[in-house]
Amino acid sequence: MGLLDVHCHLDFPQFDKDLNEVIERARNAGVKFIVQNGVNPKSNRKSIIIAEKYPDIVKLALGLYPVDALDLTDEQFDDELKFIENNKDRIVALGEVGIDHHWAKEEEKDSGKKQAENFEKIITLAEKIRKPLIVHSRDAEKEAFELLQSSGAKKVVMHCFNADFDTIKKAEDAGYYFTVPCIIVRSKHFQKMAKKVSLDRLFTETDAPFMSPFQGKRNEPVHVAETIKKIAEILDKKEKDVEDQMIDNYKRFFGK
Ligand SMILES: [Zn+2]
Repeated sequence: MGLLDVHCHLDFPQFDKDLNEVIERARNAGVKFIVQNGVNPKSNRKSIIIAEKYPDIVKLALGLYPVDALDLTDEQFDDELKFIENNKDRIVALGEVGIDHHWAKEEEKDSGKKQAENFEKIITLAEKIRKPLIVHSRDAEKEAFELLQSSGAKKVVMHCFNADFDTIKKAEDAGYYFTVPCIIVRSKHFQKMAKKVSLDRLFTETDAPFMSPFQGKRNEPVHVAETIKKIAEILDKKEKDVEDQMIDNYKRFFGK
C-alpha cells in the first residue's frame, strides 16, 4: 500500500538544494504520506509553501517547537497560535510541539514553567480546532505525558518517545500513538517499543534531516523503508504487512 513518514522537517536548510530530488526519491519508493512539521513562525510559513508545492504527498502540520517558542514574546506566541488556527483547514495536526529539557538553555531558569504554560495553550488550541498533537518530549517524557493527561488531550502522537516502559504503557492505555524513528536500526529502546506496543498504535517517521539510519548522513523520508524492514524482522512479519498497517494507522488517526 505504501510508506509513511509522519514527522519530518523538509523546510530545514539541509534540503534547500535538492528538495525536488528528495520528494522524487520518496515517490519512487512508494511513500504515500509525508507530514511536514513546522517549528517556528518562519518555518511554519515555509512549510505551507512546501505542502502546496507537493500536495499529492506532503501533508502539513504547523507548530511551535518548545525551545524556539522561548525566543518569542507572549504576544508573538499568541499571534502564532492565531495564525495556526486561521490555517486549520490546511493542517492534519499541530506539530512539532511539546516540552524539552535537553536543548533548552541552562540559563533560562524559568523555562520549565514557561514551557508548560506554552504547551497547555497549544493543547487547548488542539482541542478547540479538533486536531491531533505531534509531541516532542526530550528529557521531559513523563512531564509531557502528565500535562497532556491533565489537559484532557485525546488525539496524541508521542514522537521519538524515550520514556520508561511504565509511562509508555500508560500512554498506550490512554489511546496515544507513538512514532518509530529510523534509528531503530541501532536503538534498543525503539526495538523494544516495536515489540511491546501494539502495531496499530505505531507510525514510521524520520525527523529528517536528523536521526538517519546511516550514521553521519542526512536523513530523508525514503529511509522509513529501513524502519519497516527492522519492525518486520522484530515481529517476524512480512514487510508489506507492516507497511499496510502503518498506512491504515495514518488513515484512521489523521482521517485520509
Ligand atoms: Zn522534529
